Amino acid sequence: MCSSCVDACEEKAINFFSLFRPTIDMNKCSGCGFCYSPCPPYAIKYKTLKEKL
Ligand code: SF4
Repeated sequence: MCSSCVDACEEKAINFFSLFRPTIDMNKCSGCGFCYSPCPPYAIKYKTLKEKL
């Protein structure tokens, strides 16, 4: 089990629902990107606001 993203998040925005399902609380996330590099399989993806629309 890996929790590299949780350890990197200063905003405490990442929570695990069950052992293997991390979720990001977008109300807490600052968009800093600190969780991206520590993730071994690069499972975290970013989209610009324009891409989200
Ligand atoms: S981008 Fe969001 S979830 Fe990732 S480390 Fe920064 S505040 Fe936490």
